[in-house]
Amino acid sequence: MRRRVVLASGNQGKVREIGALLAGLDVEVVPQSDFNIDEAEETGLTFVENAIIKARHAAHHTGLPAIADDSGLEVDALNGAPGIYSSRFAGADASSRDNLNKLLTDLQGIPEESRTARFQCVIIYMEHPADPTPIICQGSWEGRILFESHGTNGFGYDPIFYVPTHDCASAELPPDIKNRLSHRGQALKKLLTALQIS
Ligand code: IMP
Repeated sequence: MRRRVVLASGNQGKVREIGALLAGLDVEVVPQSDFNIDEAEETGLTFVENAIIKARHAAHHTGLPAIADDSGLEVDALNGAPGIYSSRFAGADASSRDNLNKLLTDLQGIPEESRTARFQCVIIYMEHPADPTPIICQGSWEGRILFESHGTNGFGYDPIFYVPTHDCASAELPPDIKNRLSHRGQALKKLLTALQIS
């Protein structure tokens, strides 16, 4: 029987990517938005804590097992910022463009070789809200922060994330290639193995 699982994210970019990565598997992924649930407040100090908060919230409100991810960009020249604050780097109501512009401004004067960065992603699977052993999987994706935006694919910081293996910005990669390489793709692959539905 096809398993129904709620995906605890309201971020359309992430829902699209995770949905594509799980397409064709014996699992029906229902986005949290289909249930009219408010977003959980991300009060954790780590990607792991925030992902658990989101998964627990979605499982609690739907009665379904939940998958949640928490992700962000770590920039070495900024001591790991924006990190868990990636989606609110320029303020609580900041748009992706505001966050990206703030990052470019904060990195003004930093030369190419010192603009190293990586995307981090933690994906959690919780069978139910009180699950004491959630499955925790992590992926990371190394790159550098560009000096200006390139490309229109993806979301968030993709236009300024340089992917050395493909010599282009993440937003210039076709979606299937990004999904294969990315922090989220790697974490999800580990999760599928752990759940034995790959
Ligand atoms: P979250 O929804 O709390 O996990 O916030 C993640 C934030 O990190 C997003 O809003 C983006 O700003 C950034 N981010 C995470 N993954 C990606 C990605 O694959 N591309 C671009 N930005 C990303």
